[in-house]
Amino acid sequence: MNEGTSSTGRSSAADGTPIDPPASFVARANVTDGSLRDAFAERWPECWDRAADFLDWTSPYDRVLDAANGYDWFAGGTLNASYNCVDRHVEAGRKSHAALKWEGCLGETRTYTYHDLYREVNALAAALRARGVEAGDVVTTYMPVLPELPVTMLACARLGAVHSVVFAGYSADALAMRLADTGSTCLLTCDGYYRRGTAHDLKRKADNACLDVPQSVDRLIVDRLDDDRTYGDNYVEYATLVDEYGGETVDPVPREATDPLFVIYTSGTTGRPKAVRHTTGGYLAQVAWTSHAVLDLEPGDTHLCSADVGWITGHSYVVYGPLALGATTVLYEGTPDYPERDHLWGIVERNAVDVFYTAPSVIRAFMKWGAEYPERHDLSSLRLLGTVGEPVDETTWRWYYDHIANGECPIVDTWWQTETGGILVSTLPGVDPMRPGAAGPPLPGVSADVLGPRGTSVDAGEAGSLVLTRPCPGMAVGLGESTGEAPADWRYVTGDAAAVGADGYIRLLGREGNALNVAGRRLGTREIEAAIVGVEGIAEAAVVGVEGPQRDTALYAYVTPQRDAGPVSPLRERVREAVAAAIGGFAAPDVVVFTPDLPKTRSGKVLRRHLRRIADGEAVSDTGSLRNPEIVGELESIVDSVS
Ligand code: ATP
Ligand code: MG
Repeated sequence: MNEGTSSTGRSSAADGTPIDPPASFVARANVTDGSLRDAFAERWPECWDRAADFLDWTSPYDRVLDAANGYDWFAGGTLNASYNCVDRHVEAGRKSHAALKWEGCLGETRTYTYHDLYREVNALAAALRARGVEAGDVVTTYMPVLPELPVTMLACARLGAVHSVVFAGYSADALAMRLADTGSTCLLTCDGYYRRGTAHDLKRKADNACLDVPQSVDRLIVDRLDDDRTYGDNYVEYATLVDEYGGETVDPVPREATDPLFVIYTSGTTGRPKAVRHTTGGYLAQVAWTSHAVLDLEPGDTHLCSADVGWITGHSYVVYGPLALGATTVLYEGTPDYPERDHLWGIVERNAVDVFYTAPSVIRAFMKWGAEYPERHDLSSLRLLGTVGEPVDETTWRWYYDHIANGECPIVDTWWQTETGGILVSTLPGVDPMRPGAAGPPLPGVSADVLGPRGTSVDAGEAGSLVLTRPCPGMAVGLGESTGEAPADWRYVTGDAAAVGADGYIRLLGREGNALNVAGRRLGTREIEAAIVGVEGIAEAAVVGVEGPQRDTALYAYVTPQRDAGPVSPLRERVREAVAAAIGGFAAPDVVVFTPDLPKTRSGKVLRRHLRRIADGEAVSDTGSLRNPEIVGELESIVDSVS
């Protein structure tokens, strides 16, 4: 770890001193009650009525949690997600407030007020209904981040249809797999999209996918590229339908709280993406409540979550959470570095964003590019910052705090998964001190434990397996296992390694499957990576272990230097020294590979299983989940030359 203040102005991150939320934030925070965790614990599971109260129910639920029939949250209650995200804000007199603001890849902007959203959601719902879509049917979308995407999600929700959003960067095969898996017979796609200013064809991929599934698929298409292309008989134009059904309204179909709202697939970091189903009542209650308590959103706030809508983060915190609360959500189509590396900060400035939520990989990219990009913009509208997706090491946390928060906004490091639907572990920003490097305690109503190999709780500070010990409303259908009748017998093994401090804060240590066994000691990848990233001039690192002939583990560190880091050879020794100083000589990497980039999933997570294969000299075949497949070949040749 670097000590004191480095020449880039970073202050020491190694001391782990808790940082209190700024008084100016606390003064207006949504949640400031320090006894909330106790209050929830005393009334569990009834405490979750607090989350359900954020929603309007068409009929009240009988019980908060019904454990007799699996784990049903808010059983007996009915509601409609589209009504909750749209109509009720119009009825409350906020029809002229901005619901969605969109920035396109070519610099275009579009704003939908709540009334605009109401009109288009109704028109599309009427069109879908006329085309035979009914409650319970699965409707698939395959488009980039356009306003039409949340409109489609909400139109489906209005009808009680289940949406399955497929990220536009996926291949035809990936789309076909999802269409076939869900049996979906309706697809909304678009002709193409722009990436870095260049048009990419999407329709051809959609065509190919439809050829590959057993069912016939009704296809609607959005004209994104605005060219002269015609779409043929298999397609109906979105704009034509919305025109034709403009002015029609569709009564929101009341859904059981336990009815599915959508299906989504996990990111595929550890293997093949898994389908996960989320409920209408429990899911929406949890995302509305966490948007209020953790992201501190309220009506009138502008929220920018940089995730693609195709990920769970986009579902929960671009679409459902902010809109359930009547806030303004900002969507952007492009990438953070196009047309320039200050693009995201320009969006923050132009829209006077209050709350900004992103992934550590995005922050590390900015660290690599340099602080000059955020410095070009007035970021003073920001009130709260968040991260999700991977552990944030102390160095990255500090950079975010110093350069984006300006030392004035709290940062929430939020832990959750596709399966959990919403945030489960985080500080409450108006209550809890921040501890850089630790996500925080479980949220009110959430129970977690860290278990050792024998299934018993480990001591404070020791690494083990993160297990949730109580169900939560936002969790996917059928998650976890029960050994008995009572909720107390329920367990869900998250697959993440973690340690809990004496203060109850959970420190995530990486995937359990990535844990390293070095010289007879078990180490999370994160501990070594954090030490490496603490070296001046290094932006990002991923460590993997490869088993040698003697069952000894060789450690490979893949390291990305900052843009202005200068020659890399002196860094190699510094990397080893930093790990030796922080952990011990036994953990110093055997091979340090410098690379301009790391292989990442489309949601920005490092794919360590690919790095392991590359270190092992094995071919990497399944690059389908990768955002940057070209890096694999490049890395193979670098590793070949250094090892
Ligand atoms: P798959 O389940 O297909 O392997 P995935 O787990 O990467 O993919 P997601 O559900 O998008 O798909 O990611 C959840 C995982 O992301 C968590 O299990 C955890 O490993 C990681 N994660 C999320 N938030 C945090 C955080 N704040 N700190 C550390 N890790 C996090
Ligand atoms: Mg997962």
